Amino acid sequence: MPAAVSRFPYDDIFAWYDRHGRSLPWRYRWPEMAPVYHLWLSEIMLQQTVVATVIPYFLEFTRRWPTIGDLAVAPVDDVLAAWAGLGYYARARNLHKTAKIVAHDHAGVFPKNKQDLLALPGIGPYTAGAIMVMGYGQPGVVVDGNIERVMSRYFAIQTPLPKAKAEIAAVYADSRPDTRPSDFPQALMDFANAVCTPKMPGCNICPLASSCRGYGDGIAEQLPRKAAKPAKPRRRGVAFVAINQHGEVFVERRPDSGLLGGMTAFPSSGWTQAHRSDADAAPFDAAPFDADWQKLQPAVQHVFTHFALDMTVYVAGVHAPLPVTGSGWWQKPQPSQLPSLMRKIWKQVERHRPVNGGFKDKPSDQHGDISVILES
Ligand code: SF4
Repeated sequence: MPAAVSRFPYDDIFAWYDRHGRSLPWRYRWPEMAPVYHLWLSEIMLQQTVVATVIPYFLEFTRRWPTIGDLAVAPVDDVLAAWAGLGYYARARNLHKTAKIVAHDHAGVFPKNKQDLLALPGIGPYTAGAIMVMGYGQPGVVVDGNIERVMSRYFAIQTPLPKAKAEIAAVYADSRPDTRPSDFPQALMDFANAVCTPKMPGCNICPLASSCRGYGDGIAEQLPRKAAKPAKPRRRGVAFVAINQHGEVFVERRPDSGLLGGMTAFPSSGWTQAHRSDADAAPFDAAPFDADWQKLQPAVQHVFTHFALDMTVYVAGVHAPLPVTGSGWWQKPQPSQLPSLMRKIWKQVERHRPVNGGFKDKPSDQHGDISVILES
C-alpha cells in the first residue's frame, strides 16, 4: 500500500517531462511562452481530434495565415475549406469570428483575463484557462480528459464523471507547483498519453507509483469512473448525388447556421431536426430536380455529437444543363473539400461501380469512372 498522499509529486512529473515530453509545433518550454495565436489555434483544433491529426492542419493554417491578422482577413470559405476533415464546422466559423474580433477590437492581441477571453466566440472555460496558463504563464486550472485521468487515478477519485469534474479541478488546483505554470498541464498531458494511458497504464514504470492511490488500491484501470451514457437517438435523412455527362456533381452551400453550416454539400433533407420522417414518406421532395433517382444500399452511417444518422443516398446520371432551383452548382468532385459526412456519401457512390454512371441511356460524353450499382 503506498504512503498517504501529502502533495502531488510535480517534481517527478517535471523530471519525466524534461526527458520524455513531446516537441509539438505550438509548444514552448518555460520560461518561454507559446505565441497565443498558435496556442489558441491548436487548442480549438484539439477539441475534436488527436495531436497527430492536428499537426498538419496547424502547420497549414500557420503557413497560410501566419498571424491572427492574416486569418481575420481570409475569406471564411477558405478557412472552412482548410478546416475540412476536422469536423464541427461551427468551430471553424467561430475561429474566424474570433480572429476578426481580436484583430479589430484588441489590436491583434488576445485578452489577458479570463472574462474577456470567455466573451470570444468558441472560447469556453477550458480554452480560456489554457490560454491564461500556457500562453500567459498565469496560475489557473487546465483540466482536459488526460489530466482528469491522471488526477482521478492518483487521488483514487471514485465519483463518476461528469460529476467528478469539480472534485478533480479542486485537487488539480491543490497540486499545482509554484513554478513552471505553463509546463505543468503540458507535462501532465504528455505523461497521461505515454504512461498513465486509458488502457493498461504503465504503473510498473511510473515515477508516481509509490504514492499513487489508484495503483495502490488496485483500481487504476477502472478510473476515472464514468456515468453510463444514454444511447444516442438515431435520425434518418436522404441525400442526392447527381452526376452529369462531364463527370461533375451537383452541390450546394448549406445555410450558415446549423449543422455543417456554410459548407459545400450534396443536397439532403430530413436529418437536421429530431422528429422528421419525410425522408421516409416523401424522399424526393428534397431532390434538387427531377431525375431518375436510384437508391444505393446500404445507407451511410455517421455519428454526430448528439445523434447517430442513417443517410439514404440517391444517385442519378443527368444531362446538364438542367433547370435548377435553389443555389446549387456543378463542379468536379473534390472530396477533400467536403465535410466528413459528405465525403462518406461520395465514397459510397464511388464504391458501387461499374454500370453506366446512373444514366438511363449511355451518356454522350466521357464522365470518368463514376458509376454505381443500382438497387433494382
Ligand atoms: S501509478 Fe499507474 S495509475 Fe498511478 S499515475 Fe502512475 S501510471 Fe497512472
